[in-house]
This record gives sequence, C-alpha cells and structure tokens, in this order.
Amino acid sequence: MTLVGECLSPHVTMAQRDHIRLEWRMPYRVLERTRQVAWTCFCRASVYELCEGGGQAFLRRTVQLDGKPTAHETSPCSISEARVIWTALLSGRAR
Ligand SMILES: [Zn+2]
Repeated sequence: MTLVGECLSPHVTMAQRDHIRLEWRMPYRVLERTRQVAWTCFCRASVYELCEGGGQAFLRRTVQLDGKPTAHETSPCSISEARVIWTALLSGRAR
C-alpha cells in the first residue's frame, strides 16, 4: 500500500470514451534482451511497461488479481511507434 504523494512513477489516466483499443496478447518471446524503459506506478492493480529490445518495442500490461499477476503484451513495433502508443496510453487516448 502506497500513500498518496509517495508515487514516483506515472499513473494512467482514465481511458477516454473514444480511445484506441490496443490488442493485448498472451506474452510471446519474440524479442531477445528486452529492457523496460518506462513503467507506470505499482500502486495500481494494472501496471503498464514500455519494453524495448532488438530495435523494436512493445507494451506489457500486468494485472494483479488475488496476488496472481497476469501479463499481456502488444505486438512488437518500431521504438518510435511504441513511444507514441505509450504516451497515448498514459493520457487515456489508448488502452
Ligand atoms: Zn502510485
């Protein structure tokens, strides 16, 4: 439990009514040596990560349900494209 004001990472804002619906798939290891370059605050049940590796990038969503994390990922795309999607995700324009 994190107290308000102690969060260092960003939170996703509420999804807009006409937001882009991302395709979340079961994790599939296609990229080697991926690293997280950005992530949302772990105080929320859903944590989003921006992962890059091998010149590509994808988003990962981990949902904590009854202490059991369930992860889904978007299809790998270019790093610049993934950063645009990441920004849209944080601002509620994509989810
Ligand atoms: Zn937080």
